[in-house]
Amino acid sequence: MHRADVIIIGAGITGLSAALAWRAKGKKVIILEPSEQAGGSIRSVKDHQFLCELGPNTLMVSKPEVREFLESEQLLDHALDAAPHAKRRFLVHKDRLVPLPKSPVSALTFPVISTTAKLRMLAEPFMRSGVNRDESVASFFKRRIGPEAARELVGPFISGVYAGDPEKMLARFCMPSLYQMEREHGSLCLGALKRKKGGKGVPRRASRLVSWENGISQLVEEMVEKVFDDMRLSAPITSIQRELMGFVVRSPAAICEAPNLVMAAPAYESAQMLNKLGQPSPLLANCHYAPMVVVHLGVDVEAVRHPMNGFGALISRTQGLRSLGILFSSTLFPGRSPASHTLLTVFIGGATDPRALAMEDEELVRIAASECARLLGMTAPPVFRRVTRWEKAIPQYEQGHGEMIAEIEETEKMQPGLQVLGSFRGGVSLQDCILSGIGSVRD
Ligand SMILES: Cc1cc2nc3c(=O)[nH]c(=O)nc-3n(C[C@H](O)[C@H](O)[C@H](O)COP(=O)(O)OP(=O)(O)OC[C@H]3O[C@@H](n4cnc5c(N)ncnc54)[C@H](O)[C@@H]3O)c2cc1C
Repeated sequence: MHRADVIIIGAGITGLSAALAWRAKGKKVIILEPSEQAGGSIRSVKDHQFLCELGPNTLMVSKPEVREFLESEQLLDHALDAAPHAKRRFLVHKDRLVPLPKSPVSALTFPVISTTAKLRMLAEPFMRSGVNRDESVASFFKRRIGPEAARELVGPFISGVYAGDPEKMLARFCMPSLYQMEREHGSLCLGALKRKKGGKGVPRRASRLVSWENGISQLVEEMVEKVFDDMRLSAPITSIQRELMGFVVRSPAAICEAPNLVMAAPAYESAQMLNKLGQPSPLLANCHYAPMVVVHLGVDVEAVRHPMNGFGALISRTQGLRSLGILFSSTLFPGRSPASHTLLTVFIGGATDPRALAMEDEELVRIAASECARLLGMTAPPVFRRVTRWEKAIPQYEQGHGEMIAEIEETEKMQPGLQVLGSFRGGVSLQDCILSGIGSVRD
């Protein structure tokens, strides 16, 4: 029997961050991971000299607690900052890539939305605040900035981050700071101005958008190195019980006991584990995840007319294309492709196009390549292609999400010492997962 201060189930970024944070407080940790490798959704794979991110591509480090944690664990020592041009993001408009405006003045000539829509946006401070706590992202922004801007500007962002449907995703959970701004200031414009003014004089370190030489998996490897002795891979959970001294978790790899238990698995897996503990959690079990297909294309650099001088392009559902977005992977970070070639990462599917998951590889590659040809002026077929399917890619913060969170909180109250964490709670980005992991530490 292994006795520890905390048992962590799941070695994705949430579980690994929790493990490091508990260790930093001098606590004894044991991590159980059912698969053969740590990292969860993080998978960087070298294939024919192309470094493909099958899951996340970049880590945004903007929250001070996350930055302090990563720095104190020396996890940013080998991080690579994205190329400076990554600040430029494109939106697709009539088969052209249009850079998102950087200032209110440049927004005046932004061709993606009409003059009427721009004028409507200017009326934002005069719009009434909402009363429905479970308002969708689409409804929130239609009300604040008008239907056209909501559809063309916010829609692509929601597919880019959540692979989600703005008509279903809830503003309160997807954009908590904007939702809060409306509540506090009655307007997003006024709220942003007040925050800017209030922030004067407070030293703020610039945010960083990073990856590593060997991709995001290098971060996982560096984290695993620190907790290697406390981790059991290929350790499926067979039973979880509450006993006098705390939780007893059994797996063929180890039997562990600890007063604290952090579940850091996907929602549907945690719900099954909670069943084992006698805590049925139907809302968690039914948490909706959007599917996603990631298509990697390696193309002769001479055959792409667009300079790919940005992070990538987001695509509104109104543009008649199947791709949700394209990342310029090899111009963001070095070493993603041979010098003679470029690597593009195309995302297809999401909550608004779940059928993409069932399509043949050749068809997905054909769609990705033809849409890249149309948008980027690609004149030769790709010489490298790789298709990755995620049946359950990203949890959707839709109607019922608040009730699911309440269910988790109630379970945690009934089982002191238990925490149920993951991308289905508190944000889907790597940064939010790290934050929730480090926030799990108890005395
Ligand atoms: C295609 C794609 C692209 C993305 N792009 C980005 C991006 O560029 N930037 C960004 O910030 N975020 C991105 N994300 C989101 C981000 O990658 C995830 O939200 C995050 O990695 C989730 O981490 P996690 O540790 O909570 O869960 P997971 O990564 O799912 O890890 C959970 C772990 O629990 C284990 N587990 C499963 N079942 C059990 C069980 N029964 N018992 C114990 N353990 C179990 C799993 O094997 C896994 O290791 C992307 C996600 C996807 C899918």
